[in-house]
Amino acid sequence: MVTRLKNIIKQNQLGDKSIKLIVNSAFYGLPYKRRVHHRTQQLAINPPFLVDIEGTNACNAKCIMCPHSKMKRKVGVMKWELFEKIVANCVRFKVPEVSLNGFGEPLLDSLLIDRIKYLKKSGVPVVRIYTNASLLKGKIVEELINSGLDSINTCIDGVTKAVFEKIRPGLDLDIVEKNVQEFIKLRNKMGKKKPLVFIGFLKLAENESEWNTFVERWSPVANGIYKANPSNWANAVKLTSLSNYDFSHQKGYYNSPCIFLWKMVSIQYNGDVILCCRDYEGKFILGNLQESNLEDIWNGKKLKAVRRTHLDGNIESIPLCANCYSPDSMSPTIWWKI
Ligand code: SF4
Repeated sequence: MVTRLKNIIKQNQLGDKSIKLIVNSAFYGLPYKRRVHHRTQQLAINPPFLVDIEGTNACNAKCIMCPHSKMKRKVGVMKWELFEKIVANCVRFKVPEVSLNGFGEPLLDSLLIDRIKYLKKSGVPVVRIYTNASLLKGKIVEELINSGLDSINTCIDGVTKAVFEKIRPGLDLDIVEKNVQEFIKLRNKMGKKKPLVFIGFLKLAENESEWNTFVERWSPVANGIYKANPSNWANAVKLTSLSNYDFSHQKGYYNSPCIFLWKMVSIQYNGDVILCCRDYEGKFILGNLQESNLEDIWNGKKLKAVRRTHLDGNIESIPLCANCYSPDSMSPTIWWKI
């Protein structure tokens, strides 16, 4: 019976509400807690799955589900010497994957191509970027294809101009679609398999009627498509569409700690290591990589204390996490998959 319930949760067969009931039931609550405890112990002694490095925190869009336009942090670019040091940390710590994003649009970083080449030359197995694709044109296209980059991820969460441009003010659907199609065409023409191109669709009230057409349009073209849940960025974004979602995740309702604390490290352009990628303002700083190193921060007292608080179900005592809605990092489904 426990195995059957485990599979139901793992495959998210019943939807959030039913899974919530199962995980909190007297019968299943204990095995689920054991599983989480066991996995967190294992994950804590391993390097993070992913290190996210902010080459720049500049962005050219004003998407409605992103707090970038509210950001008070100074816009800047990571210095090359610091970047080299971070890469050396990642290699020594055997980090399997690096993404070059942070809270910015990576195509605005003039050092992007050099950074990708340096990461690959240093032996980082997987390097990827998330881009809004509006600047994916001109000479950078060929440079990216030749850089060694493993994947490009973008989100085209609309198939009509009205919907897409309402969600992503500042961007033009025609340009974004053309850029992505031309990128894939040139990559194929050059006989390259990489960078793989993954296209996401952020599930919002504004675009829910456009998913099926999105699938028809992009599944034959991209290497993969996916639907993602929106986040409220630790309560920084108040989307009306989020009222359709079940906010009980953030209240420890599932007895689930946030997976980000065991899975990834986010580094801002000045070297600050922040609690997680949602901490765009850098409110909870775990350390700085100009003075410290990745292993020490990952195994350090500050992060250990936050993990303990999450495991004890006291998520609400951490201001950043207290009202954070991040279903993709807190659902029980994740804890059975990882
Ligand atoms: S709960 Fe939210 S703010 Fe806290 S670590 Fe997870 S994603 Fe970050």
